[in-house]
Amino acid sequence: MSRTVIVVGAGPAGMMAAGQAAANGAQVLLLERNARPGRKLMITGKGRCNVTNACTLLNELTDHIPSNGRFLYSAFSRMMPYDVIDFFETRGVPMKIERGNRVFPESDKAMDIVDALDSFCKQNGVKRKEERVVALFTENSSITGVKCESGNVYNGDAVVVATGGLSYPLTGSTGDGYVLAKQTGHSIVPTSPSLVPLETKESWVKDAQGLALKNVRITVRDTENYTDVYTDFGEMLFTHFGVSGPIILSASSHLADMKSGKYELLIDLKPALSHEQLDARILRDFAEMSNKALANALSKLLPKSLIPVIVRLSGIPSDLRVNQITRDDRQYLGSLIKELPLTITKKRPVEEAIVTAGGVQVTQLNPKTMESKLVKGLYFAGEVIDVDAYTGGFNLQIAFSTGNLAGISASEE
Ligand SMILES: Cc1cc2nc3c(=O)[nH]c(=O)nc-3n(C[C@H](O)[C@H](O)[C@H](O)COP(=O)(O)OP(=O)(O)OC[C@H]3O[C@@H](n4cnc5c(N)ncnc54)[C@H](O)[C@@H]3O)c2cc1C
Repeated sequence: MSRTVIVVGAGPAGMMAAGQAAANGAQVLLLERNARPGRKLMITGKGRCNVTNACTLLNELTDHIPSNGRFLYSAFSRMMPYDVIDFFETRGVPMKIERGNRVFPESDKAMDIVDALDSFCKQNGVKRKEERVVALFTENSSITGVKCESGNVYNGDAVVVATGGLSYPLTGSTGDGYVLAKQTGHSIVPTSPSLVPLETKESWVKDAQGLALKNVRITVRDTENYTDVYTDFGEMLFTHFGVSGPIILSASSHLADMKSGKYELLIDLKPALSHEQLDARILRDFAEMSNKALANALSKLLPKSLIPVIVRLSGIPSDLRVNQITRDDRQYLGSLIKELPLTITKKRPVEEAIVTAGGVQVTQLNPKTMESKLVKGLYFAGEVIDVDAYTGGFNLQIAFSTGNLAGISASEE
């Protein structure tokens, strides 16, 4: 008789687990609280889905996973990024590789990824039901089944919990897996936001709200020991509370021991120019517009909404004609453009994060199977586990690799 496997949560980890368990001969029931599977997956990569990162070596993968990367060795060895690419391409979703080895579907449609996983489940006979699991049943430290909010009970030989984390709760990921894990005796490493926008002390960010800067360099400096903890180049944007955008989200996962004022963000608005080159450029602009007031002479150099901010911070009267600005003041202006400072006060809450750090403690799971060491037949996969990665497709790779391993293991005696 084939084994009955219950998978809780139809995100990338759950769908991969369910499909693989069924392909391996198990009777699989996939319980998802939403009517449709993969709601978070649909919005990944701004609707384009950065499926994985095309790195070929195990340690390239683990280098991008600040917490518990080593725990994932077995899961990754069984399913590497090229296996994920192959998985989707053989299911009719061609892939392309972009800057930073980021892999996307050629169609730029996250929905194609959701559909491919859904078909993979259906083709292997996975049954999906709209149910929210609220409790796990165990007997003699072995799993026996699950109870749903509807009152329905389902029995199984194995259960895979793939309920995700706490971020973007409207997608269905509200942290239920932590409750289920705790009910069965597991420890939860405290959760916190990772890959999340940052709040700043300076309220001038509101004046620049909505402004996206495409080619800037940021540096995050630890003000307690004056070391630079992170530097990156790319796109960021200003919001009513502070800063967001790809390079800010990446920076957020490098801010350990977050305290208001501990970290300073320096934005280089002209990374292609050295201080000297920028000064020469300003001099040239000022020479062309020598009778203009400072506020009107920066339009070639800076985005409109940042001009009043920079002028205010420079302390130079905005109506001063540029031919009257001293060398020192001009150089200070240049240094603001090269190192526009912001004081980080805190991260935005976990609900606004791309991923949740923390989760089911990895020492209580067998890394070779994803099975709990406390409850036989109970498996965990995806973001519910205490693993999280930087941006670049690594978080979905974790979901696919752990889902694959948990699904295969759960289907075997
Ligand atoms: C805006 C955004 C963009 C992102 N973009 C990327 C990207 O481009 N690349 C990348 O690598 N990562 C990206 N991520 C991160 C990535 O989406 C997650 O790491 C990944 O979805 C985690 O997969 P999962 O299957 O573990 O959990 P989830 O995707 O969260 O899926 C969990 C599923 O379980 C269901 N569920 C929860 N509780 C229950 C319950 N009690 N009973 C039944 N069902 C339940 C939920 O409804 C949900 O469908 C992004 C995240 C966000 C928020």
